[in-house]
Amino acid sequence: MTDIFDKCKRTHYSNELTPELAGETVKVTGWVHEIRDLGGIVFVLIRDKNGITQLTAPSKKLTEEMMADVRAARKETIITLTGTVQESGKAPNGVEIIPTNIDVINVSKLPLPLDTTEKVDAEMDTRLDARFMDLRKHDVSAIFKIKNEMLHTVRNYFYDHDFTEITTPKLVASATEGGTELFPITYFEKEAFLGQSPQLYKQMMMATGLDSVFEIGQIFRAEEHDTLRHLNEALSIDAEMSFRSQQDVMDLLEDLIRTISANLLEKNQNELDILGHELDIPKEPFPVVPYEEVLDIVNSHDVEMNYGDDLSRAAEKVIGDQMGSYYFITEWPTAIKPFYVMPNSDDPEKSTAFDLMYRDLELSSGSQRIHSYDLLYQQIEAKDLNPDSFEKYLEAFQYGMPPHSGWGMGADRLTMVLTGAQNIRETVLFPRDRRRLTP
Ligand code: ATP
Ligand code: MG
Repeated sequence: MTDIFDKCKRTHYSNELTPELAGETVKVTGWVHEIRDLGGIVFVLIRDKNGITQLTAPSKKLTEEMMADVRAARKETIITLTGTVQESGKAPNGVEIIPTNIDVINVSKLPLPLDTTEKVDAEMDTRLDARFMDLRKHDVSAIFKIKNEMLHTVRNYFYDHDFTEITTPKLVASATEGGTELFPITYFEKEAFLGQSPQLYKQMMMATGLDSVFEIGQIFRAEEHDTLRHLNEALSIDAEMSFRSQQDVMDLLEDLIRTISANLLEKNQNELDILGHELDIPKEPFPVVPYEEVLDIVNSHDVEMNYGDDLSRAAEKVIGDQMGSYYFITEWPTAIKPFYVMPNSDDPEKSTAFDLMYRDLELSSGSQRIHSYDLLYQQIEAKDLNPDSFEKYLEAFQYGMPPHSGWGMGADRLTMVLTGAQNIRETVLFPRDRRRLTP
């Protein structure tokens, strides 16, 4: 008996078949995408991760058995096609395959939970319920190929810049910022939470002497609201650097975004084409707008915003329209940023906090951090938090904590920008939102 893996071992992926191969025998394995039976001739489209191959079966040239095998093809069944390459102007990649053998590898149940050939997209819920099938569509898998390349670039970039990759606990005893957006869990006889950010741990790493660290990991936020840009579980890219200023880490972030864009342009043009998305390549340095200027711009467009307000959705839209593309918002009021953010030395009402925006979407927040134990303690109390619940974190600041800065960037939100996705759910394999916990 032939081993099943020998049977389905392909000689080429769809995109590797070219008219130069005319006359050669090739083997293609994939899912039956579409069947068109015109009577005298049958076309079967076979899809693999890189494209689509056309099987062409003219009844005049093939045996009855072969025609019966071709006609037995069922949508989304996995088959291996062996056949001869023939040039064809109309077929994908300019070639069609005349079959000499068809092996059925695994039969698909019908009806399908989702039609992979539908021109009009199914509802998001239907798609997410059948995500494995949704990803068979090339315009869906393209998003994840781009996300993959982005993460690959991010890791390489950090390694090239002498960072150490860290992984910190996601089971934590207390809140990072004291907010209410926490998922409580039962941890044996204690209460614990899912981590909303690696912030406290990456800062503690500054006291280890490793200097520059990064983490790519999940963050959990019990956001009640259901939006196109928030999930309850998101992927965060975090960087923290000792002996580096706010400006240094802003420069790093900007350079990283440029490197990602350049790499995608070089390696993922095919996926960008499939998505019909033109990558926004930042040419000029990212503009910097201080918070007070944002306030003026927003108010001059008839959206009310007072000093000390965070950006409302309406305000984000106004400033996004004005600024376009990538830009930084700086000099945020100290009062509305987390306790660990360093206030400006000359004007402590203002802080070293910055947000990186893309149009109306916040991509990243960062700042110089407080490294003085006394000031940190004061700020925790000033935010009505209990220093006792930060005891172990605070300890790291008493034995030689370097001055440091860092940021956290939403990897799913960045993927939205890089792929043109309007809904963050498009960029996550199995999104977790207010209503969705499976699959
Ligand atoms: P927003 O104001 O948009 O809710 P935030 O200021 O609460 O975001 P931060 O705590 O600054 O978020 O987190 C850093 C980054 O992590 C954000 O800029 C964003 O890109 C990403 N992020 C935060 N919360 C979420 C979420 N619920 N879903 C997806 N990404 C998120
Ligand atoms: Mg933020």
